[in-house]
Amino acid sequence: MSKLFYRSTRGTDNRIESSRAIVRGIATDGGLYVPEAVPQIDLSMGSLAQMDYTELALYIMSKFLTDFKEEELKYCIEKAYDKKFDDPRIAPLVEKGGAFFLELFHGPTLAFKDMALSIMPYLLKIAADKNSIDKEIVILTATSGDTGKAALEGFAGVEGTKIIVFYPRNGVSKIQERQMTTQAGDNTYAVAIEGNFDDAQRGVKEIFSDREFNGILNKSGYILSSANSINIGRLVPQVVYYVYAYLNLRKSGKIKSNEVINIVVPTGNFGNILAAYYSKKMGLPVGKLICASNENNVLYDFINTGVYDRKRRLIVTSSPSMDILVSSNLERLLYDISGSNADIINNLIGDLDKKGEFKITGDMKDRMVDFYGGFATDKETFETIKYVFFKFNYLIDTHTAVGYNVYQKYIQVTGDRSKTVIASTASPFEFPGSVAKAIDEKYAGMDDFSLLEVISEISGLKVPEAVKGLERRKILHNTVCMETQMEDVITDILGL
Ligand SMILES: *Cc1c(COP(=O)(O)O)cnc(C)c1O
Repeated sequence: MSKLFYRSTRGTDNRIESSRAIVRGIATDGGLYVPEAVPQIDLSMGSLAQMDYTELALYIMSKFLTDFKEEELKYCIEKAYDKKFDDPRIAPLVEKGGAFFLELFHGPTLAFKDMALSIMPYLLKIAADKNSIDKEIVILTATSGDTGKAALEGFAGVEGTKIIVFYPRNGVSKIQERQMTTQAGDNTYAVAIEGNFDDAQRGVKEIFSDREFNGILNKSGYILSSANSINIGRLVPQVVYYVYAYLNLRKSGKIKSNEVINIVVPTGNFGNILAAYYSKKMGLPVGKLICASNENNVLYDFINTGVYDRKRRLIVTSSPSMDILVSSNLERLLYDISGSNADIINNLIGDLDKKGEFKITGDMKDRMVDFYGGFATDKETFETIKYVFFKFNYLIDTHTAVGYNVYQKYIQVTGDRSKTVIASTASPFEFPGSVAKAIDEKYAGMDDFSLLEVISEISGLKVPEAVKGLERRKILHNTVCMETQMEDVITDILGL
């Protein structure tokens, strides 16, 4: 197979092999790595439809990660997609309410981040060996909740790595927080930030670009890497499930050969929907990519006007994993629609930094026709959970509800009835407070932990192992800091 190289969206860090891109996470010029060309899938291959999740993962990932040997990828895939997932199909597709919910929450932390973060530590280990890195890898991650626990879980106990997660102190659910603060493993650290997700993300980005600090780390035998969705080691595994969903629809006769499907993605940092976009670029017959936002509807405005404006207050919503004003992965789409023009990207990002907004050209906007942007208010999100439950007897979480709500609006506006896959990004057990309240006001104010049983009764599903008895687990992490103190905290943890 021919080699695939990666280049930075900012233009000065090019011809990078996949393993190096995974080790670095972010490009040396501050940009994001993108494949020089998106590999193609051969959908006429009869064997594709017969593949199980792990076989398909090997097929797709080997096209992107061309400097990994087949045995290496197989090893990573088998380590990742095993009994940790409580459904042997890994990402089951469930038909309800006139749509197909792609349930991406069957992993160890109940949210879709597990799909990539259960494999990324293994990819990273092998990638580090390939690049003769003898330093200990320190994973630095900002999280709006789900990345943090999935990354802690994924990296816990992985030799030669340490993982430090920064989360907004008042921006994650009780369940999420407890999952992080009780995380076992000698190499895991969860730190609360006095601020929101964007503060945490900006802080992490600054640390990555602080040369002096990185020099000190290197001298002490450490090297920084990222588990955020900007790492291609996260992006690539996410492409797999969209192809899987499509093949599933084909195999079950729900769609005809070459019938176009739409994909709805509840979106925050733009990673998951970007993976869907890449699946389309690989040749999957995808029509619209429906980007669903909550009240932090920066992307909705951007898709509709071409102006990205982050100058607004971040609103804490019932779908906290999408409470984001600066969607990092959008840079990859911008690069694509600019015709791979790094100068344009540098200007846009410069505008965003300096003026808090940027505007794309008409040509670029025209190249975004595949995207449809919508948003749901918190009130609509709660109504949607209730509606879907009472009408279709299916309990969805707040993030997925944002997706379903926007999908309904999309149908109303366009009349487009193409078969549609909705990325179902979290289990209702992850946000029991909001979900139970949506079903019946009488649950309002009850604590998340007692509500797990309520969710179990309502849905008829067992409380997943991931959260069972969570309130009784021992709290192992309790550091709190300001955005300006993040480097000090790292210095402390690593004993520099
Ligand atoms: C992270 C997350 C999202 C947003 O995904 P992005 O790739 O950041 O757009 C949506 N829902 C849930 C439950 C998440 O954890």
